Amino acid sequence: MITTKLKRPPPFHYIPGISLPHTLSPSHPCRRRLFTTSSTAAHADLLNESQNGQRQSKPRVIFSGIQPTGIPHLGNYLGALSNWVKLQNTASASDELLFSIVGWHALTLPQNPQKLREARMDILAVLLAIGIDPDRAVVFHQDHNPNHTELAWIFNCITPMGKLRRMTTWKSRLATSQNMGEEDAVDVDEGGLNLGLFAYPVLQAADILAYRATHVPVGDDQTQHLELCRVIADQFNRNFKGMERLFPLPIQLNTPSKRILSLRDPTSKMSKSAPDTSSRILLTDPPSTIANKIRSAVTDSIPGITYDPVNRPGTANLLTILAACNYDNEDVQETAGRYVGKNHGALKKDLTEAVVELLKGPREKFEKLRTETGYLEQIAQVGAEKAKSRSEATMVEVRKRVGLT
Ligand code: ATP
Ligand code: MG
Repeated sequence: MITTKLKRPPPFHYIPGISLPHTLSPSHPCRRRLFTTSSTAAHADLLNESQNGQRQSKPRVIFSGIQPTGIPHLGNYLGALSNWVKLQNTASASDELLFSIVGWHALTLPQNPQKLREARMDILAVLLAIGIDPDRAVVFHQDHNPNHTELAWIFNCITPMGKLRRMTTWKSRLATSQNMGEEDAVDVDEGGLNLGLFAYPVLQAADILAYRATHVPVGDDQTQHLELCRVIADQFNRNFKGMERLFPLPIQLNTPSKRILSLRDPTSKMSKSAPDTSSRILLTDPPSTIANKIRSAVTDSIPGITYDPVNRPGTANLLTILAACNYDNEDVQETAGRYVGKNHGALKKDLTEAVVELLKGPREKFEKLRTETGYLEQIAQVGAEKAKSRSEATMVEVRKRVGLT
């Protein structure tokens, strides 16, 4: 195992293991919600695990990934990344954590090579800025570890086409990239569908299972893929029996705000790849941009504030974000109750303040880190070595079982 300790350059103030946005006071609700074990989010984790009957005393292997398709947005943060940090800070010493920047997935839609290069560095800087500790978690670029693609090929050969056809995500991704709402995804022009986009859930299963991960903190949009991952793991275990079951059936870990919607089209999720940049709040947006985006968020013309996700999805989305940022993820109906007799203006004003406060620390850290290219490259290199050596143990056994040794 590689134990290299990375030295951060002097201008960046870093306290190992402490990942809280330092500008927030200890009593600030954002800190309490996102980073303590007693929050609703922690309860959701336990619920997920016990629902699957797999609450374990055994060490967990926690894996997740994010595509370098742009700067992460509030949906990524509330739905997934904040959970990565919380898991890292509450994991027991024997738990392993791996967080990957999944460049091969980004290539399933057309990318500008220069922008992709930048985005890979951006995401790494964001992960560190929100509190991922590269001495505790393995942080790496997927494309630095060829074991992912090798395992994906083996999985391709046991994954039925019928199951992939039932995945709706490739349609949603195509629809989003064509500036269509998710609801119109059934009519999406399939001309842009390439083999990589169709098969990317198999690569995702390989990403997870290369490390025999047991827990996967992701947003709601990944549920179908996690189900497929379990099907593939089970199929491999049945086809290629050994002394023991090789792959675990990984559990999805959601946060309470597992699906944040687009600010411009509240029938679709907030996405990095959506062409309309005002549809998402970036973790690096300055306060004035956050204010403008929230001010122009699509709501409705119904007077007053109520939580009604079916008839008032835009308003419900703003309430969901506010509950996550400011009110310790209380029941969103309760958040709505705080706005009796008030209007959208009051809600948007409070939301702007809450989001600005939440993102202030991470944005400042990102701005410092992003200029430290050598340091980021060093982190990526160490992460790649750890990831390769960690997954090689799985691959040796896989090759043996399928008859490739
Ligand atoms: P893209 O549009 O390029 O697919 P994305 O915004 O969907 O980008 P991903 O990199 O695909 O982001 O996903 C990273 C993580 O963020 C995943 O765990 C995903 O489930 C989660 N996530 C993405 N969008 C949202 C959202 N709107 N709400 C909650 N979680 C989200
Ligand atoms: Mg996505």
